[in-house]
Order: sequence, then structure tokens, then C-alpha cells
Amino acid sequence: MNLLDDARGLAPDLRQLRHDLHREPEVGLDLPRTQERVLGALAGLPLEVSTGTDTTSVTAVLRGTADVATPDERPVVLLRADMDGLPVQERTGLDYASRVDGVMHACGHDLHTSMLVGAARLLSAHRERLVGDVVLMFQPGEEGWDGASVMISEGVMEAAGRPVEAAYGLHVFSSVRQHAEFVTRRGTMLAASDALHVTVHGAGGHGSTPHLAKDPVTAVAEMVTALQTMVTRQFDVFDPVVVTVGSLHAGTRRNVIPDTATFEATVRTFSAEARDKVAAAAPRLLRGIAAAHGVDVMVDYTAEYPLTVNDVDETDFAAHTIAELFGGERHADLVHPFNGSEDFSRVLDLVPGSFVGLGAVPVGVDPATAPFNHSPYAEYDDAVLADGTALYAELAQRRLALPATHN
Ligand SMILES: [Zn+2]
Repeated sequence: MNLLDDARGLAPDLRQLRHDLHREPEVGLDLPRTQERVLGALAGLPLEVSTGTDTTSVTAVLRGTADVATPDERPVVLLRADMDGLPVQERTGLDYASRVDGVMHACGHDLHTSMLVGAARLLSAHRERLVGDVVLMFQPGEEGWDGASVMISEGVMEAAGRPVEAAYGLHVFSSVRQHAEFVTRRGTMLAASDALHVTVHGAGGHGSTPHLAKDPVTAVAEMVTALQTMVTRQFDVFDPVVVTVGSLHAGTRRNVIPDTATFEATVRTFSAEARDKVAAAAPRLLRGIAAAHGVDVMVDYTAEYPLTVNDVDETDFAAHTIAELFGGERHADLVHPFNGSEDFSRVLDLVPGSFVGLGAVPVGVDPATAPFNHSPYAEYDDAVLADGTALYAELAQRRLALPATHN
């Protein structure tokens, strides 16, 4: 007997919770209203609940009550959901659309939060089946705030008093994948993300007499295109690198050469080797171009989220669980990783686990043309709430029951 039927019974409640969260999205590490809703939804369950000291995180520990020979060695499994929205003006027109101007749950984290609340209810109702403990990690600040690192420093990995043995996370997609399709990938699941901030200092002057100035604009223009040439000439096409300059600023008027020009880029890589290599190659390239033009450059290369790497055994276990619960036709192995990045990578750097994708494109909408995550038009189907809930709960219950030799 699995928990899917029970999860379906929770669907109306989960939909209501999700809509409530969706109407009132919050951004970053400080999500007081979201935290309040999660605490309210968990109230009355047999959980040890604690809240973040540095953030509005929620950590809940559920102690299994199944008889085990060695109680001190009962395993611990962690389930994680992120809770934050994005600074996006919602344009879906849904009846539960965001009421907060300029803020939207555009990445579907409201679904993850609701699913994990659902899993807390299912697992609490079946504690007698759990041969270990479950840590529920409700995380703020996934969208660039590294909330996972904050929660790790707050002690989420030690919340049960014994080390976490395996960790699982889930992410919905508003497009690309089929409705209700689960996707897994062994090894790299998501890219590493780093940031490049560049300021070129020249010497301003009159637009008619550039030889009397040091023009930072032409230097920056060359840098932007040279970064693309760097990618194609210095990196293996089978170990891809993406460099996107998304912000570029210089000058005030057409006939004034400015003192400075700036740009920012995001860098995505899919291996530790490529990541290290860009971190060395990009600053070297930019300094070389600056020297060639007689201008100064300040290069700030900042590491953001590392690669999200799925453990092979844990991913096989997750894929097997999905196939058993929903049927093999509901599961697909991803050929390529996603170009996005995730701070669940911080957890998977510490313990083996797996990050699973779930297609949430509304029924009847073509995933190939549906608005992608982060779009003001992105829509996620409530119909997947019960499935995500059941998967979270089953992963925890089944993983706890596996023999210690699993890894
Ligand atoms: Zn997201």
C-alpha cells in the first residue's frame, strides 16, 4: 500500500494552501507571511518544529515510531522545499494571481512548499511505518540568496540529532516537460552559476577627439564579444559553457566619452573543471584587452551556486520509486542537465541525494511553447500537487527502510 491515495485525499487542502501562498508571494530570505502559513499548516502534527535564527526558515523533524533493533542508529532522511517568490509582475490572469505588486511565485515554489506540507501530513499519519526520522527543510531565499547555506549554518543537517543520510528535493516546470512527467538525471542535474562584474576605467573627453581621451566604451564592446570567442576557442564543446552579458552601461550622451563603462555577466558551467577554467580565463582575457587599449579594468568574479550533482544510487532509487508509484511512462531520464542552478546543491555537496523535476504545464498546453519558469505568464497545474506530495513522502518512507548498505 502506498501513500498516493492518501495524497489525493489531501489535494483540496493542498490546492487551497498553494493558492493562499500564491496570492501573497515574498522575496528573499525574509518571508514572514509565508513562514506563518507553513507553521499554521504544520500545527497539530507530531513534529519538532524550529524556525530560523538568521532567516524565516522552518525546520520540522518527524520521529518515526517503527520498532528497530538499534534505536540510536535509526537513519535520517531530509526533504527540502523552497518557499520564495520572484520580483516579477504576474500577468497570468488567474483567479488566485498575486496580490502583491511586482512579486510573483513565478518559479512554482508555492507548489513545492504545499507538497512538503502534504508530505508532513502523510508521514505524520503513518509514523509507525518510519524506521527513522525525517527532516523537513522549508527554505527561504533560493532565488539567488543562498538560503540553503544559511539553513545549513543554522543547523538543518543536524536537526534530528543524527547525521542526514540522504536528501531529496523537487522542482516543478511550467514548460519544456510534459504534464505530470517526472525527470531524473544521474550526476550533474543543474549548472553551476557564477557572476562576472566588470568596470573599465578610461578617461572621459569630447566625442570628436577620442585620441585625447581613453575610451572605455570600445574596450567594453570588444570584451563582450571576446568572451564569446573565449567560450568557443578555449572550451570543449562537449563540456559546455554559457556566458551571457545581461547588463551593460556607459555614458550619458552621444558626443561625450565617459570615464567608465560597466557590464555584468552570468556564467553557467556543467563541470568543476570548466568552472575553474572560466574563473581563470575570463579575468585574464579582460585584463589583456584592457591593457591592449590602455585602460584599467576591475574584474570581480564571484562564485554563486555550485553544480547540483545527483548521486547515482539515490537517483536510481528515486527513479525506481517514481516508476512504482506512477508507472514507468511517467518517468524520463534527462539527456542533458538543466542550465539553471540551485542552492539545493549545497545540501547535495554534503550528503548523497537527488533533485527531481516534475512537469507542471497545464493540461492541454503545449510544453514546447508554454511560458518558462520565471515568466510573468508561467502557470503551474494544481493537478500535480498530490503526486509531488506522494513522491516526497514515499522517498522518505522507502529510503528509511533500505538497508544501511544502500550506499
Ligand atoms: Zn525555482
